[in-house]
Amino acid sequence: MITSSTPAARPMFAPLTACWVCGARGLTPYHTLRFELDAYRSEDQDHELAQYSGETLDLVRCASCGFGQPAALPTLPRYFDRMYDQRWDEDWIAREFDAGCKDFIFRTILRELERRVGTNDRRLLDVGAHAGRFLHLAREAGWDAEGIELNPRTAAYAAIRTGLPVHQMNAQAVADRGRSYDAVVLTDVLEHIPEPVDLLTTLAKLTKDGGVIAVKVPCGPSQVVKERVLAAATSHRVTLADNLVHVNHFSPRSLKLALRRSGFEPSVRAAAPELQPAKPLTFRALGSSALRLTTYALARLPGGVHTPLALNLQAYGRRL
Ligand SMILES: [Zn+2]
Repeated sequence: MITSSTPAARPMFAPLTACWVCGARGLTPYHTLRFELDAYRSEDQDHELAQYSGETLDLVRCASCGFGQPAALPTLPRYFDRMYDQRWDEDWIAREFDAGCKDFIFRTILRELERRVGTNDRRLLDVGAHAGRFLHLAREAGWDAEGIELNPRTAAYAAIRTGLPVHQMNAQAVADRGRSYDAVVLTDVLEHIPEPVDLLTTLAKLTKDGGVIAVKVPCGPSQVVKERVLAAATSHRVTLADNLVHVNHFSPRSLKLALRRSGFEPSVRAAAPELQPAKPLTFRALGSSALRLTTYALARLPGGVHTPLALNLQAYGRRL
């Protein structure tokens, strides 16, 4: 169901009628998301974007492959660029770099990539490099690493902090320059990009024959269960994709299918968790990390990736 609380001169949403992953048309609503963009209403902000505040939109699941996506997309030109127009200050970006919450995830990915491509082929591309933490760890581990980052502030910070090339252009523009890599990494990025098979197909062009792509995304069905459990236990409202921050909701099966359709031979498992920073080391932080590591260990058991314990998915796909 698409609702519009204010009469608009033109439609605010364009319906999507087919699954972005498999093309099937059997799409069933399973969650209603909200738009809360009042922060963009103030004087120097984005009034057209703020008009979406109060709107709702359904997420729909594909009966054929299990993929979840919005029932429609905003017609506002550059909606996603405008929503992500973050003007982070340098102190915040520096804290993002230094926090180290994702180091366990990053080191797990680097180890798995090395196992697959060997120690001689070391050209790596991090798509969505953010503040550059993964690039930093990749270089420490002996990779010849480069990044793509569209946000000008984080791109500049990552380039200065790591001394590595950070391309401030999209993947197609990097592909057009004829560059190619042994390993391409997408961590916590693909869930934000409409029509994910298009980006993966571009990344296949950037991956050498026999090279490997590593993709980490939230697991759509597990996040629904987690949110409903939290909502039942607390006053928490079920939030899966407010403002369309997440447009792709992959199941293990649909993630495999998306990679296959893009030219990769994939395997999918539970992803390593974020851990609390070691400083300050509190009992609460220790307890949280212990719980996450235990959940991860259980989700790595045979069949565990198909249970709600797999909160995030990690795929590795070899370029065919
Ligand atoms: Zn589908």
